[in-house]
Amino acid sequence: MARRKKIYEGKAKILYEGPEPGTIVQHFKDDATAFNAEKKAVIEGKGVLNNRLSEFFMTGLGQIGVPTHFIKRLNMREQLVRSVEIVPLEIIVRNYAAGTMSKRLGIEEGTQLPRPIVEYCYKDDKLGDPLVTEEHIAAFGWASQQDMDDILSLALRVNDFLSGVMLAVGIRLVDFKIEVGRVYDGDFQRLIVADEISPDSCRLWDIETGQKLDKDVFRRDLGSLTDAYTEVAQRLGVMPRNQQGVTKPTLIN
Ligand code: 5GP
Repeated sequence: MARRKKIYEGKAKILYEGPEPGTIVQHFKDDATAFNAEKKAVIEGKGVLNNRLSEFFMTGLGQIGVPTHFIKRLNMREQLVRSVEIVPLEIIVRNYAAGTMSKRLGIEEGTQLPRPIVEYCYKDDKLGDPLVTEEHIAAFGWASQQDMDDILSLALRVNDFLSGVMLAVGIRLVDFKIEVGRVYDGDFQRLIVADEISPDSCRLWDIETGQKLDKDVFRRDLGSLTDAYTEVAQRLGVMPRNQQGVTKPTLIN
């Protein structure tokens, strides 16, 4: 069997060259990291859950006309995606104060924001993904004004979609991070949602109890991360209710 060509290995995923030009195989690892990889663990089953949950969110976005890189899930840990030129920004949308916004501005976690607030961080692990303004983005050429308009529109559409999907299963979408990538269609280029959308990159709180169902469970040592992600998957109908644990999860479809 021929060895696949690895393109990139990150903290939570490995990218391999895909079977067709312009495609990539995205492999979800069980590795969990936090605080810029100062805290690390291997959490069995996390990759399987994130692969399936990202498929669920990306497919839903596609169905409402939000373009994403997702093509199809290949197996438990891998999905086929379009190859993109990643814009070097983390795009964060916040509906409630939490995390770094609460720390930075002294706003109590859980405070509802007057409207969704979009923040941009420059993607650079060595610098700890610093918060940047549109001035930095324009001046350093990371994205054009047209790109920024498109990014804002994508981010808000993803926010509306994810907020609604989560609300329907009793979960509050506190905030999330997306990444976008550039694709070229002939003479045109456009931006699409890339990377992943999963509980690794969102804050998800149970509406009734406030229980955290996202990566803060790992960041803040609040219990079992796979139990939290399994709960999200089960509520969304991605995993059957009667199944406990995710060492060898059976996925619906
Ligand atoms: P905060 O800025 O409060 O740490 O994060 C805001 C939101 O963006 C949270 O949902 C968090 O999970 C997500 N986020 C921010 N930076 C990263 C990152 O580097 N990786 C991932 N997976 N999510 C991030």
